[in-house]
Amino acid sequence: MNVSDPEAKGDARLSDLAAEMERATGILPSVASVPLSIHTTMRVGGPADLYAPARDVSHLSSLVRFARRHEIPYLVLGRGSDLVVSDAGIRGLVILNRAEGARVEGTRLIAESGLPLASAATMTQEAGLTGLEFGLAVPGSVGGAVWANAGAHGSDIAAVLESATVLRADGTEALEPVSALGLGYRESRFKHSPGDLILGANFNLYPDDPAAIGSRLAEIRAWRREHQPLTRPSAGSIFRNPPGDSAGRLIDACGLRGSRLGGAAISEKHANFIVNMSEATAADVRSLAERARQAVSDEFGIELEYEVQFVGDWSGWSGR
Ligand SMILES: Cc1cc2nc3c(=O)[nH]c(=O)nc-3n(C[C@H](O)[C@H](O)[C@H](O)COP(=O)(O)OP(=O)(O)OC[C@H]3O[C@@H](n4cnc5c(N)ncnc54)[C@H](O)[C@@H]3O)c2cc1C
Repeated sequence: MNVSDPEAKGDARLSDLAAEMERATGILPSVASVPLSIHTTMRVGGPADLYAPARDVSHLSSLVRFARRHEIPYLVLGRGSDLVVSDAGIRGLVILNRAEGARVEGTRLIAESGLPLASAATMTQEAGLTGLEFGLAVPGSVGGAVWANAGAHGSDIAAVLESATVLRADGTEALEPVSALGLGYRESRFKHSPGDLILGANFNLYPDDPAAIGSRLAEIRAWRREHQPLTRPSAGSIFRNPPGDSAGRLIDACGLRGSRLGGAAISEKHANFIVNMSEATAADVRSLAERARQAVSDEFGIELEYEVQFVGDWSGWSGR
């Protein structure tokens, strides 16, 4: 059964599918009722056809296996901090990853993929392990951070990750070394093989004085407050930095800092952030981002690449 089929789109059909999912996985998904805006940091986006939270790794993998078996398109959502969901929402199944188990063993942190990276940072600080302090700046999950090779303050996931447990598209599960994950600047092989799911990650850290790690966390907290528009919803940096330059500097140089479209604005504090000022739509955010991308192309001949992902049904978006 494929919910992309026009015949399968009716509410009754979705309800049948939801009941079948409950029988197979023990989890009853919500049908077209949960706005994804509440699960994304940009606070925009319509509902998914089917929406199911996964409380642990076995829920996560059984929901994914169910979707694959029934050929239902699916998206695993971490903390929703690197994407913009369309106003029309997402066709298929959205699985909210809340598999947040974690433990410290010696100098390793062994984490499930739904653990917030900021929790990984504070948990390892308390255990006297250094290396994950930068994670305090990244409001994503461990899985989303591996997917993006998230980084900040001179470090990134690649610098501390030892291995990841992956549920591959062919249904096998494997512990893969970091060298197999294709990590680069905001890059991983997961961006190009969306069928692979990160179930967990093992980080190799170093012993250090908890008080010294704590003061580095305090510095990071203060830096973020000073430099990022944290009081408004956003999806972090909209564009990747082009080689040798910064997307924020280029957008600023086009005179766009503070400019608005509908409820969205280019942040006064950091021009590579688009913030939700009041009831922005996903279309406002994407159109404003396109305006900035076009302006930088016209002014400097540089084609900015998106760091955020636009997901869902954008067929009704006019492109401007
Ligand atoms: C205020 C703010 C500041 C930010 N600062 C930084 C920063 O300093 N550095 C930085 O790198 N990023 C930053 N970001 C961006 C974002 O937090 C990171 O990219 C983060 O790693 C995304 O994780 P997530 O769980 O939110 O992913 P989501 O947005 O939920 O998902 C993003 C993509 O990853 C996929 N995905 C999620 N989990 C899994 C999984 N378990 N297996 C396979 N695929 C998965 C999703 O399907 C989706 O395609 C910032 C964002 C905000 C809002």
